[in-house]
Amino acid sequence: GNSINNLQPLETTISDVERFATSAILELSCPMCSKQFPFGGIVASNYYKMCFNGIQCKGCDHILSPIQLTAQLEATIRVHISLYYAGWLICDDLACGTVTRQMSVFGKRCLNEGCTGVMRYKYSDKQLYNQLLYFDSLFDIEKNKKEELKPIYHDGDMDFPNEALTESSIRALAEQNRELFEISRSVIQKYLSECGRRYVDMGGIFDFMSA
Ligand SMILES: [Zn+2]
Ligand SMILES: [Zn+2]
Repeated sequence: GNSINNLQPLETTISDVERFATSAILELSCPMCSKQFPFGGIVASNYYKMCFNGIQCKGCDHILSPIQLTAQLEATIRVHISLYYAGWLICDDLACGTVTRQMSVFGKRCLNEGCTGVMRYKYSDKQLYNQLLYFDSLFDIEKNKKEELKPIYHDGDMDFPNEALTESSIRALAEQNRELFEISRSVIQKYLSECGRRYVDMGGIFDFMSA
């Protein structure tokens, strides 16, 4: 089987931008003013700024406490894990598009009579693993310093940041937030290691699912 080979958590030849192309952005909300905003690490944003002691909401200047951050992070991870566990399968024949949670006794064969399509997981194990790796990257001090994170905005976006961050301020902020980022990573790592183990354990099953 090649699904374990496909995993290669350290596919070093591809950039995070490519690896996390389909990963969902981390949405945080300010506990004081309830404003929601995408968090993309130590990057420019019109909604938040990194200060020397955490993530500060630009709407009300509240600085998220470590627990206010990690609780949201953990809740988001759980949403993704439950999506994965919901086990929805989708037929790869676009003309059919059957979506089901039921596994046919024939495994990967579509249940729609006469359809020759193959059922695949809508939320694959690899997607979940990459999603967790993406969250992990946001709190990776070195990746932040090297400005290797997947951009959360693109030219032309309505909320494209007005101001850029300088390289030196990014480096300083990364060091000042080292403890907060390490706490955040430890939350993610807990799920990442479980997910990685499960991936290896279930390799055979997913191998069977991928034609
Ligand atoms: Zn706020
Ligand atoms: Zn089908």
